[in-house]
Amino acid sequence: MNSQPRVVIIGGGFGGLCAARGLAGALVSVTLIDKRNYHLFRPMLYQVATGLLFVHQAFSETDQFDDLKKFDVPTLILHGDDDQIVPIGASAMQSSKLIKNAQLKVYKGGSHGMCTTEKEKVNDDLLAFIKA
Ligand SMILES: Cc1cc2nc3c(=O)[nH]c(=O)nc-3n(C[C@H](O)[C@H](O)[C@H](O)COP(=O)(O)OP(=O)(O)OC[C@H]3O[C@@H](n4cnc5c(N)ncnc54)[C@H](O)[C@@H]3O)c2cc1C
Repeated sequence: MNSQPRVVIIGGGFGGLCAARGLAGALVSVTLIDKRNYHLFRPMLYQVATGLLFVHQAFSETDQFDDLKKFDVPTLILHGDDDQIVPIGASAMQSSKLIKNAQLKVYKGGSHGMCTTEKEKVNDDLLAFIKA
C-alpha cells in the first residue's frame, strides 16, 4: 500500500496543471481529476487562429526571392505538379532557378498533401538526397 500523503487536484486547467507540475518530485501521490478528458487553454484558441492569419499573409504576400539567392547549402525541392494550394509554376519552378545548384523533383499528379499521400516516396527521396 502507498503510504505517501495523497494530493487530489480538482480541475486539470491552467491552475491544476501548474499545481501538478509543481509537485513533480515531491514525496506525495498526486491524483488529478477533471470532468473533461482534455486540456483546454482558451487563450490559445484565438492566438493560434490569428497567428495562422499572419503566417498565411507572410507566405503568400512576402517576396522571398532575394533570400533564396543567398542559399549556399545543398537544397532539394520536392513539389507536386497538381498542387492546388501552392501552384508549382509560381513556387518550385521559380525557387529551383534562384537557389544555386538546387535539385528539383516534380511529383507527377502530386498534391499539396503529398508528404502524407506519398510519404514512402518522399522519405526515399529525402534519404537518397542526404546520403548523396
Ligand atoms: C477567451 C479567454 C482569453 C484569455 N486570455 C488570456 C491570456 O491571453 N493570457 C492569460 O494569461 N490568461 C488568459 N485568460 C485567462 C486564463 O485562461 C485563465 O486565467 C486560466 O485558464 C484559469 O485557470 P484555472 O485553472 O483557474 O481554470 P481553467 O483553466 O478554466 O481550468 C478549470 C478546469 O476545471 C475543470 N472543471 C470544472 N468544473 C469541474 C468539476 N465539477 N469537476 C471536475 N473538473 C471540473 C474544467 O474542465 C477545467 O479543465 C483568458 C481566458 C479566456 C476565457
